[in-house]
Order: sequence, then structure tokens, then C-alpha cells
Amino acid sequence: MQTADVIVVGSGLGGLVAGALLARYGRRVMICESHTLAGGAAHGFTRQLSNRARIKRLRSILAHLFTVALLMWLRQIR
Ligand SMILES: Cc1cc2nc3c(=O)[nH]c(=O)nc-3n(C[C@H](O)[C@H](O)[C@H](O)COP(=O)(O)OP(=O)(O)OC[C@H]3O[C@@H](n4cnc5c(N)ncnc54)[C@H](O)[C@@H]3O)c2cc1C
Repeated sequence: MQTADVIVVGSGLGGLVAGALLARYGRRVMICESHTLAGGAAHGFTRQLSNRARIKRLRSILAHLFTVALLMWLRQIR
């Protein structure tokens, strides 16, 4: 079973900063969020992506995956 020293309710800027600082100083922190996204009032979302924006996002995901795969491969051959 997982245990935490501190449970922070809400992942808004306040909760994230408090959680990060507590973790920085060695506390085991659990942050609970009722929404599907972290960030509270400061979270971002995109409405109705255009095809161009979809391709851009797909490209950035592929570039990210490629970087991760490359790093994993480099780690293996070291
Ligand atoms: C449109 C807009 C523009 C802004 N622009 C700026 C700006 O330019 N500069 C600036 O400094 N500030 C700005 N702010 C203010 C800033 O975003 C907020 O002050 C800050 O995000 C508040 O953070 P918070 O952690 O206090 O609360 P919130 O961001 O409200 O986070 C609270 C979190 O707790 C969660 N929560 C609540 N109850 C529960 C529960 N029972 N269980 C689990 N989770 C729960 C909520 O879902 C939410 O994610 C703006 C705010 C808005 C709305």
C-alpha cells in the first residue's frame, strides 16, 4: 500500500507549488485532483484543432518518441 506524509487536495498552482516544495524537502506527497487535468485555473486546453494543428501536434509527439527511443538506444550501447 502506498503511504504519504502529506495529502494535498487540488492541483492548482497553490497545490502543485506546496507539493513540489514539500517533496523537495523530503516529504512523500500525494496530490489529489478532481479534474482530469492538473493546473486548476491555470490549466490549458485546445478547442477544435485544425488539420494543420493536428499534424503539428502529431509531428511533435513523433519527435518526442524518437528522442526517447534514441536516448534509450544510446543508454543500451554505452
Ligand atoms: C482566466 C484567468 C486568467 C488568469 N490570469 C492570471 C495571470 O495572468 N496571472 C496570474 O498571476 N494569475 C492569473 N490568474 C489567477 C491564477 O490562475 C489563480 O490565482 C491560480 O491558478 C489559483 O491557484 P490555486 O491553486 O489557488 O487554485 P485553483 O487553480 O483554483 O486550483 C484548485 C484545484 O483544486 C481542485 N479541487 C477543488 N476541490 C477539490 C476536491 N474536493 N478534490 C480534488 N480536487 C479539488 C480543482 O479542480 C483545481 O484544480 C488567472 C485566472 C483566471 C481564471
